Amino acid sequence: MTLEILHVPGARAYPPRQSVFTQPFWQALGEGRLQSTCCRACGRLAFPPRPICPHCWALDPGWSALDKHGHLYSWTRIHAAPLAFAAEAPYAVGIVDLRQGIRLACRLIDRPLAPAVGAEVELLALVYEDGPLLGARVVALPPEPAP
Ligand SMILES: [Zn+2]
Repeated sequence: MTLEILHVPGARAYPPRQSVFTQPFWQALGEGRLQSTCCRACGRLAFPPRPICPHCWALDPGWSALDKHGHLYSWTRIHAAPLAFAAEAPYAVGIVDLRQGIRLACRLIDRPLAPAVGAEVELLALVYEDGPLLGARVVALPPEPAP
């Protein structure tokens, strides 16, 4: 399952640390693919990618594709940003629950739909000039509560 790639001018404001171990994750994200570690001993996923399984402590991670679909667990719009991100404010950040049971935080692209708790989201790759970041876009708003 491929991610939409959104090219962003300039460099990432605060590039994430990368290691030899996480390089496959960043390489794939830059190509529009989302993957993380899946333990070969217990078969459970972990995010972010980890060399040690957080469920059974096995040292035998494999890589597995993640579904790009999920729901917005929570979100916020940041107006008073840390210095590194000040030029990008205001911007939205969300916590996304993927269908596979992974919860992650990422930047929210809030057009054309504004974020709302419970909204359906799709993850996407924000590809800057110096590398990718994970993002999400709202694709459907949650149903209105019954009166
Ligand atoms: Zn495990």
